[in-house]
Amino acid sequence: MAPRPLRTAEDLAEAGLVPPDAVPALRDVSRRYSVALTPHVAALAAREPAVARQYVPDAAELKTAPHELDDPTADAPFSPVKGVVHRYPDRALLKPLLACPVYCRFCFRREAVGPDGGLLSEAELDAALEWFATKPEIREVILTGGDPLMLSPRRLGAMLARLAALPHVETLRIHTRVPVADPARISPALLAALMLEKPLYLCVHANHASEFTPDSFPTLRALHGTGAVLLGQSVLLRGVNDSEEALEALFRAMLRHRVKPYYLHQLDPAPGTARFHVPEEEGLALLRALRGRVTGLAWPSYVREAPAGGGKYPLGMKGFDKAADAGRTPPHGWAHSSVGRAADS
Ligand SMILES: *Cc1c(COP(=O)(O)O)cnc(C)c1O
Ligand code: SF4
Repeated sequence: MAPRPLRTAEDLAEAGLVPPDAVPALRDVSRRYSVALTPHVAALAAREPAVARQYVPDAAELKTAPHELDDPTADAPFSPVKGVVHRYPDRALLKPLLACPVYCRFCFRREAVGPDGGLLSEAELDAALEWFATKPEIREVILTGGDPLMLSPRRLGAMLARLAALPHVETLRIHTRVPVADPARISPALLAALMLEKPLYLCVHANHASEFTPDSFPTLRALHGTGAVLLGQSVLLRGVNDSEEALEALFRAMLRHRVKPYYLHQLDPAPGTARFHVPEEEGLALLRALRGRVTGLAWPSYVREAPAGGGKYPLGMKGFDKAADAGRTPPHGWAHSSVGRAADS
């Protein structure tokens, strides 16, 4: 029988990833926040603490720090129809499902993601696609969730084809953890679904060099072979990649796999994630230390979400931080008030 994903505190203890006496406390955590490690990730976590830390739950998750928020990026007020988040003038998110191959302990959508639910019905998907069809200002559709590569190739392919057929949609983007968390999912049918005439940017989430295994090279090479442009996104995490060496190794591993580091995210204040927090000044110092010594291709933008839905802005760039922190309209100059609040009612 093929190995199954680890989903419960008992599974984790059986795999030797947590001590047996931690099981009762972790059972409570797993009732609140989804847990999953694919067999691929479980094997990696068994030998690499920087991988285990990203996925193995911790009793501290049930303690919410005073600054932590349920919806730290404030998606809900920017959702004109179910499954769509429209915060910027030229692009919008489509969240076709909320399942992921693994559940990261620091996830900013941790209150929403999980294996059951969140899959848009056919009617809801039609309504979301209709919204995109009637918004000529949207030039980029960003599929996220959840993880869009968890969809069946048939469903994903049909969705991408419908979006790409909209004349005003110039580029598509998918944010995914599947290539490093469950490479076996990248089947010929899935690769075929990703082959589009219009440019597709595939943004791969990885936080530690060891997430790139011998399986990753053929997987990412095949994804690149679809014509997709491969980008990397990472979160700066205490105990995972909070050193110059770890970041350098991560970004160099991405480049060796044809993945261009795009974003390094400052951790969003999701509930129960305080153990991963690295202060901004420390993040800036780490990136400064890499600049010049390491190829410029390995240099991502270091970004943070402004509170209350102010949007993403780059850290360490004059002119951004103050406006966003003051809660004023961020420098991209878009009036948020034009967005409906339908989804939050
Ligand atoms: C992050 C994000 C995007 C994409 O932003 P880029 O800076 O273009 O990568 C789009 N919409 C929402 C709501 C986001 O949070
Ligand atoms: S893969 Fe992304 S959306 Fe899913 S749990 Fe991890 S951070 Fe959250």
